[in-house]
Amino acid sequence: MASTDVETNVVECPNCGRRNRVPTIADGVPQCGDCGAALPWIGVAGDDNFAEVVDRSSIPVVVDLWATWCGPCRMVSPALEQVARDLAGRIKLVKVDVDKAPAIAERFDVQAVPTLLVMKNGQVVATQLGAVPAHMLRAWVEGALAEVARSSSGT
Ligand SMILES: [Zn+2]
Repeated sequence: MASTDVETNVVECPNCGRRNRVPTIADGVPQCGDCGAALPWIGVAGDDNFAEVVDRSSIPVVVDLWATWCGPCRMVSPALEQVARDLAGRIKLVKVDVDKAPAIAERFDVQAVPTLLVMKNGQVVATQLGAVPAHMLRAWVEGALAEVARSSSGT
């Protein structure tokens, strides 16, 4: 549908500081319009656009299934955003408010929040239930990326 609004965020380039508009749905990886550096890719999704934002993403997606009333979620979300900045160009971070996305909560059988997923091509590669410290989040994501790389190399 041409009328569908694609959400965009303004992201400051970590390399040169230029402010770029980054769409939640795009082919490839968002890059800075000035210097070409990969930009952190952070967006939100719900029942109506999860397939486009996550399942059809060109790069692995870290899905943060959270809720507004969840205290640990408020610690995990900024830590995940830091991971998304550190791994810009390699992952997309997508936050899903499970109270507003009942179909997504059901699809992944979410019993508690936060539930974190790493997904590639619509498949769950890794799952993390509950909050973990920032440095462990980064290690968990990198482990999942290594898994994705192994499986996509065909061996
Ligand atoms: Zn730049």
